[in-house]
Amino acid sequence: MDKIVSLAKRRGFIFQSSEIYGGQGGAWDYGPLGVELKNNIKRAWWRSNVLERPDMVGLDAAILMHPRTWEASGHVGHFTDPMVDCRACQHRFRADHVLVGMGVISPDVPPILLSSTDSETDKLRLAVEKRARDRHLTLDHVQVEAYNSIDPSNRDKVPCPECETPALTEPRLFNLMFKTFVGPVEEDAAQVYLRPETAQGMFVNFANVVTSMRRKLPFGIAQVGKAFRNEITPGNFTFRSREFEQMEIEFFVKPGTDDEWHQRWIADRLAWYSSLGMDATRLRLRPHDPDELAHYAKGTSDIEYLFPMGWSELEGIANRTDFDLGQHSEFSGQKLTYFDDETGEHITPYVIEPSAGADRATLAFLLDAYHEEEVPAGGGKTETRVVLKFHSTLAPVKVAVLPLSRNEKLTPTAQEVYATLRTRLRDQLVQYDDSQSIGRRYRRQDEIGTPFCVTVDFETVENDHAVTIRERDSMAQERVAIADLVPALREKLGLE
Ligand code: ATP
Repeated sequence: MDKIVSLAKRRGFIFQSSEIYGGQGGAWDYGPLGVELKNNIKRAWWRSNVLERPDMVGLDAAILMHPRTWEASGHVGHFTDPMVDCRACQHRFRADHVLVGMGVISPDVPPILLSSTDSETDKLRLAVEKRARDRHLTLDHVQVEAYNSIDPSNRDKVPCPECETPALTEPRLFNLMFKTFVGPVEEDAAQVYLRPETAQGMFVNFANVVTSMRRKLPFGIAQVGKAFRNEITPGNFTFRSREFEQMEIEFFVKPGTDDEWHQRWIADRLAWYSSLGMDATRLRLRPHDPDELAHYAKGTSDIEYLFPMGWSELEGIANRTDFDLGQHSEFSGQKLTYFDDETGEHITPYVIEPSAGADRATLAFLLDAYHEEEVPAGGGKTETRVVLKFHSTLAPVKVAVLPLSRNEKLTPTAQEVYATLRTRLRDQLVQYDDSQSIGRRYRRQDEIGTPFCVTVDFETVENDHAVTIRERDSMAQERVAIADLVPALREKLGLE
């Protein structure tokens, strides 16, 4: 992860928020290349889930919603995380993220207790076994459980994962919604929340969409937008932030067809990540255990990615049943049902919700693209080439125009090529770079994942009016006439 954090800053992908003031925890700024990458991800998601489907429409709902929304959705009552503090080092943790490894020796010997915030349970097991070996003790068994689930009588003996002092508090529930006030008076009646998910904007607009768009079941609403959660322990770079973007779908179906649609969406969403080049061996599906399910869900499967800190959620796909429409009908007094022509009945549709994070997807695509390769450096030596092997749809810069050197003969033609590509490769970012040696400029483009470099040399201006296209991954070079450059690049970038 450290390499990605450093590359992201050095090359203008992601900066710490308000860095000059010491930073704002859990908030991140996307730099000039980061905003392109994230926009490309959101655009690819929108294209695949709205534009290319006959059964989806889009929405952009407000962040500030009527506060009753959050009572109906259950967020006021249930949107809590268990929090635990260390009295010794003052560190704060999410209690369900503190894993406790318990080595049981026999019923009358106190267990060996170790804790960790690393999600790899095997590492914790091994550490407990090692501790037992060091003390010449024979373990009966080792169990790993979250701090908030272990037998309360053992809690005061659990060492803090940070300072190892057994000084952790009891878990306390903490509501994650940010509060603010509408209007000039800070009183309870004026209190609203920053939305913790985009989903509710789609539920409260269900009737508006059905009526205005004359929709029949099954159909879905898609939305991309900011969400805010006062996370207890933001971290792992942008993985867990307090302000982030979601890409969510609420897909409304007839009850009884929900399980089938759930499976279809799981398959579709998994395929989407692979279609954009994500390594399939670093993706997996994890169905939730029944005791892990959210209060509204009949079933949930997470798409997980193998992040540097272990397998972690990239997207959750839940069967939310008729919970949300039912709740909003009850709380608002407005009927949110659907008239089924075939049966002549009013029904409350079931909902399948594929809920992805734009920032987690951006981080996963960045990590997945990162490669270090040994390449020849002349004189029989090699050097390390860092290359982001982005799918061309996602690459922030699609083409870089590089004159062989900064030279008065080359510059006019190179600038002309640059101007042509900027306007004719519509909606694609093209860069121009003529500083330092050509080798260094190739490396710079490799490091930001530019799929193609176009080099203008003396042959171009003196002889053949052609340029060299260099492909990022193979580093293969091809000579193409300037007149054919736009169609050639469009084809290579899959823009037709
Ligand atoms: P976690 O268990 O990691 O807290 P969650 O199950 O609460 O996540 P959901 O409520 O299902 O997450 O949100 C849907 C998606 O929104 C997640 O899969 C993730 O991609 C994104 N997301 C949720 N919380 C955050 C966050 N704090 N920072 C960045 N992305 C987030």
